[in-house]
Amino acid sequence: ALMTGNEYVESLRKLNMEVYIFGERVKSPVDHPIIRPSLNSVKMTYDLAQEPEYEELMTATSHLTGKKINRFAHIHQSTEDLVKKVKMQRLLGQKTASCFQRCVGMDAFNACYSTTYDMDKKLGTNYHEKLKKYIVYCQENDLTVDGAMTDPKGDRGLAPSAQADPDMFLHIVERREDGIVVRGAKAHQTGIVNSHEVLVMPTLSMTEADKDYSVCFAVPTDTKGIKMIYGRQSCDTRKLEGSKVDVGNPKFGGHEALVVFDNVFVPNDRIFMCGEYEFSNSLVERFAGFHRQSYGGCKVGVGDVLIGATALISDYNGTKKASHIKDKIIEMTHLNETLYCAGIACSSEGHKTAAGSYEIDLLLANVCKQNVTRFPYEIARLAEDIAGGILVTLPSEADLNSKEVGHYVEKYLKGVATVPTVTRMKVLRFIENLTLGTAAVGYRTESLHGAGSPQAQRIMISRQSNLEAKKQLVKDILDIDI
Ligand code: SF4
Ligand code: FE
Repeated sequence: ALMTGNEYVESLRKLNMEVYIFGERVKSPVDHPIIRPSLNSVKMTYDLAQEPEYEELMTATSHLTGKKINRFAHIHQSTEDLVKKVKMQRLLGQKTASCFQRCVGMDAFNACYSTTYDMDKKLGTNYHEKLKKYIVYCQENDLTVDGAMTDPKGDRGLAPSAQADPDMFLHIVERREDGIVVRGAKAHQTGIVNSHEVLVMPTLSMTEADKDYSVCFAVPTDTKGIKMIYGRQSCDTRKLEGSKVDVGNPKFGGHEALVVFDNVFVPNDRIFMCGEYEFSNSLVERFAGFHRQSYGGCKVGVGDVLIGATALISDYNGTKKASHIKDKIIEMTHLNETLYCAGIACSSEGHKTAAGSYEIDLLLANVCKQNVTRFPYEIARLAEDIAGGILVTLPSEADLNSKEVGHYVEKYLKGVATVPTVTRMKVLRFIENLTLGTAAVGYRTESLHGAGSPQAQRIMISRQSNLEAKKQLVKDILDIDI
């Protein structure tokens, strides 16, 4: 059954995850002030699914059980499902102004679903049925699953099996009757501390020598041997200071962590690839394709909020009538909606896989993500332009409340007379949070490197561009027959 947001929080509280921040084990991650805003973002994926207004986008009917499930646990059954996925992500970006983390599991499910089907067909293995059982388990219990792909990679010039340290890519260290033991790590794991389960996949194409690295499996996040080392974000410790104004976004956030698998045991029923190196490429390509589509939704939703904050600060600054301000906001909107166009296009141009599920148009999904590596930076630049230099020289909330200097801050940081200084400060901090603070992780650098760095999309665009057919178009018109 679907969990409420509060049930989700309580279900996480019951897990015994091994999480470290500033060198120390965190007793209760759910209540940690640095982690909590990121938990609130995932909670929103549960809360909105309870609201009739959002039911259409937030829930789906499982093709495996016929029951109503959260869309984040769904295997896409049509291009309409793919479009709804992007719209759901835009909605959540709008509601949280953050990364809400639950998409990686959804994208991993869908990539594994079609790949295990192909694998079984070619090799006679039985991974697809096992995966289906696992997906049903996650759907029925409405779990948050983290999709884990990126290995630390060590020397980028060497294959997994050729690394000086064999653990630079996660691999099988022991094969047992009842399962396998794995060792390695996964880097930048979005939302792992807020997840019940982790679904691990290989990170690149493999050859026979990398057989032990071609492994896909799922385990609960509190499995023995899993250690999460929480990633720092710019301005993260402001959350320990107690000021709601200074943190920028006091309610929501995102997180990533370095996740170590120190000899973790995986039982047979949770292994979905175990040495079939020739399928690791399709798993990687499909997951990347789905996650590149995802960014055409989530980053657009966050962009909507940043554009809103920018329009608001121009109201508060008294600049909203200036024609260049209006034009810059038009430009921000144009860029943001261009991202959305590709997100929707790669979805509605999607197609059915051999397994019966639907996947996106790969070329358009890569174009979508390539745009995402650029446009949020320009949108952020325009936001900073309109906000003004005060964005980075603003005194703290404590100064505003100080007996000695508070009245100066109040007086001199006022914009238009009708808006309280503290309100203007809140919006400035909110913009700072998205462009330079904790949320810039998701809005800027993750836009660049998440779901694959820019060059990875260019390789895919080049492979899908079909230049020969384009040359032939010219030859046909000009009657060239060589
Ligand atoms: Fe979802 Fe976007 Fe966060 Fe990826 S970056 S998990 S797509 S919200
Ligand atoms: Fe991401």
